[in-house]
Amino acid sequence: MTVIKSSQEVAIMRQAGKIVAAVLQRLRQEVKPGIKTRQLDSVAVSELKRFGAKASFKGYQGFPAHLCVSVNDEIVHGIPGERLLNEGDMVSLDFGAFFKGFHGDAAITVGVGRISPQAQELLTVTEAALMAGIKAAHCGAHLGDVSAAIQNYVETRGFSVVREYSGHGVGRDLHEDPLVPNFGLRGEGPLLQKGMTLALEPMVTAGDWRTRLDENRWTVLTADGSLSAHFEHTIAISDTKPEVLTLL
Ligand code: MG
Repeated sequence: MTVIKSSQEVAIMRQAGKIVAAVLQRLRQEVKPGIKTRQLDSVAVSELKRFGAKASFKGYQGFPAHLCVSVNDEIVHGIPGERLLNEGDMVSLDFGAFFKGFHGDAAITVGVGRISPQAQELLTVTEAALMAGIKAAHCGAHLGDVSAAIQNYVETRGFSVVREYSGHGVGRDLHEDPLVPNFGLRGEGPLLQKGMTLALEPMVTAGDWRTRLDENRWTVLTADGSLSAHFEHTIAISDTKPEVLTLL
């Protein structure tokens, strides 16, 4: 069932969202060649402490870290560890904060040093696809309008949207209904209503959309080894245009 939040609840989610945005902004500054992915996890932990918030992902269905770090052909749910980031890699950072009973959830993809023109294009298109989805997420639209906006933006630029993982409702629980697929048809799905809080998160690949699961049972990779990017914001549906909660 879709959860409609009161304006007070949205106000708390705004605080949680700002914490997520602040942590991601700090992490972006830490991404450089030679850093280990687990160092990014440590930075996220120390930043969270400053805000008195908790990591949404740690322990979620057994996830072992505070931050998802997914490199190159890894799409989502990468586990930070001893891997070193190299010049030319692209790294996706997905982070959730739990604050005063509510979650905020967002992701960015960052180039490590200089990246290839194709990697840069993938990054730019994925972030713009998220913005296209947000623009379509106005009160009275159908959820399928949002999915279709994301899919069309990506596919007309020659990339693919991942189909096996989706955006979602978010609030008291990290993952609430409805699912927000990155593909779909305009006019389908539930109507968007004021007070719905959703995490939109296009996961985009340079090749085929099919995925495979790593031996660690968490990390999702492109089946064909192609590059992937991921951007996410938590938004609140309002009377006019949606409010992006995971912004500073
Ligand atoms: Mg999410």
